[in-house]
Formats: sequence, structure tokens, C-alpha cells
Amino acid sequence: MMKKYLTHIFCTPEVHELPQAYTSEIASLLDGVKSNHSFYGQGVIGENIIGDKKDTFQSRYRKLSMNDCFELCQRIRKTRKDIDEHPDSFVVILTHKENDLKWFSATDGRNIYINVKDLELYSGNQTRYPIAFQILENIFQSICGIIYKENEIDERIHKKSLQCINDLCRQKSKIISKLKTASICIQCKDLARDNGISNEELEIFDTMLDSIKTPAIIKIKDGEENKKVLVIDQSGQLQINEHSVKIDPLPFSFYVFFLQKNSAVNLLDLKKYVNEIALIYQKLKHKGEVRYKLSNPNIEKIRQKITSSREFIKNPEFSKIVSSINAVLESSIQPDLLNAFQLQSDGSSNYFIPIDKSLVKIDENFLLNK
Ligand SMILES: [Zn+2]
Repeated sequence: MMKKYLTHIFCTPEVHELPQAYTSEIASLLDGVKSNHSFYGQGVIGENIIGDKKDTFQSRYRKLSMNDCFELCQRIRKTRKDIDEHPDSFVVILTHKENDLKWFSATDGRNIYINVKDLELYSGNQTRYPIAFQILENIFQSICGIIYKENEIDERIHKKSLQCINDLCRQKSKIISKLKTASICIQCKDLARDNGISNEELEIFDTMLDSIKTPAIIKIKDGEENKKVLVIDQSGQLQINEHSVKIDPLPFSFYVFFLQKNSAVNLLDLKKYVNEIALIYQKLKHKGEVRYKLSNPNIEKIRQKITSSREFIKNPEFSKIVSSINAVLESSIQPDLLNAFQLQSDGSSNYFIPIDKSLVKIDENFLLNK
């Protein structure tokens, strides 16, 4: 008889305005394959749970300690008889609140802490996939006895990447690539068996991991040359290979602008296009509509991004725009095709998007010089 695992997923109030739907969505993603695991989306934790840690949550600067995080999980158990009756079950807290070690996630063996803020930053609108992955990673580590110890990283965590669920990810950008490729390496399978996990259970883990890998959504098949791979519709929705991709309106307005340029544009020349980019921005914010006469605040917002520094190449405002666009794309497009879609510079201050423009269709509502 295979052991059954129950996992209850909670979040803290700042994470989502619809906490029940949010946690249920993650739970149902993890429940998507038949397994000996059951997941429950439990919504937000109440003030009674946060209790004396309220000040820490309200402060921008104070951080939780790792033990604070696990303490919150323990409090949940005490107030929920149905969970407390099964002491083996896992309690997960998803939060935006950083911990003092700046770890993304950790487990003490039963309780799991996951900082979802950074994951959201690096995975755009597909954030439930990496979160589900982190939950599974921590459950696996719990079962293998790899648990949090103060100021110490377990020696069984791979410091050098083996494309394994137990790789240590210090760099945030590496996390997403881990999420796309990771499985369980031979070494870690041995470790799991030593901890009483059967081959059958390991197979289930593999299947579950496969089912929640961040999807690489761009797959251009042969014989589809005439297909438009990148489409921006009348209301300003971006579709890449028929999958919706969401970039915030401000960076997106620059992206829409550069998509229409057949050659690189120097940041110094970008000043000439402030009004046009501001108009695109306004339409993107209002689902394609122009709600009011092009207003100064809009134009000012765009202008600040491109003229905040005399030395354009070092312009930190524009660099932020570029990295926020590219981070969303990185989470949505398979690595070998990514290059064509990203906003790039030639090493000086000329910027361009390499994609073949015949693959792009932009609704006339967002065309320049209209
Ligand atoms: Zn491994």
C-alpha cells in the first residue's frame, strides 16, 4: 500500500486579491495527474494566524526568520482540526514576504515556505507552474530528509547544476531554466530509495514533474511559413503562437513600437517618438481605446523612461523596461527561439527586435503614423 500525502496550500494576504481561487488553481494543477498525493487550496491565512508577526508583515524592511515562517504553519495546524488530525500532512505558505536568508523556499520536514514574489517576476503570467514546482521540490526534499538547518545548506543539494530538482539556485534567473528542465537525477533517486520511497512512487514524482514544467509555448512547425507567430489584436492582447502573453502596459508600449521598426533605433532618436509611444501606451491601458485626449502625464511617463539620463546607454530607466520585457518572454518561449523575440541592443545604444517581420501581425489600431 503506497503512502498517501496530503498537502494544504495557503497564502498570506498580500499575495493575491482572490486567494481562494489562486491557491485552488495551484492545487488543481498539482492534482492534474493520478498520484498518491492530494492537494488542497486553502486560501488566505487570517489575522489570528499572523498574530504577533503583523508588524513584520506591515513593514517594508523587516524580514521573517525561517523559523517565523514555519511557526505560521504550526499555528495553522493548531487552528484547523482537520489538518491537525493528520500530523504527516504538509502545510505550505505562499508569501511575498522575504525571509532573512533570502531563500526562495525551505521546509522543516512538514512545513513549507515559498516566496512567490520572485517567481512571479521571472515567469510572467505563468506563475502557477513554478510555484507548483517549488511545492513539489520541497515535498520531495522533506521525504528525503533534506530539511532546513540554520545557516547551513544540506550537502545533498547540488551546488553545481545537474538539471535536478535538488539543484541549488542562487541566481534567480537560473530558476526558470531549472523549472523547464529539471527531473530527479540518479543520485537523488538513490537517496529517495534510502528513505523508503519505492520505484513506483519515484515514477509518479517524475510524471508529476513533467506535468507542471513551465510550458515552452513557441513551437513553429514545418509548413507553417505563412502563419503569423506574433499577433497583437485590436484590444492590445499579445498572442505568441496562439498563447496569450502578458507584459505590463508601459514596457509593452515600447515593445509594440520596436516591433514595427525594420532597423535598429538609437535611444537618442527615441525622443522623437515620445508622442507615438504614449498613444500606444494609452490604448494598451484601455483595451485599445483612446479614453481621453493624449494627456501630459502619459507623455511625461514615457519621456522619463528615455530621457532620464544624458548617457543613454547607461540609462537605468530604459534598462528596466528592456529587462521586464525580456523576462516575460523568457518564461514563455523555448530558449532556442527566444533570441528572435527579445528587445536587444547592438552593444551601444541601438535597440531592435530581430524577429522576421513577416511573422508579425499588429492590428492597425497600434500601428505607428496612423
Ligand atoms: Zn539530484
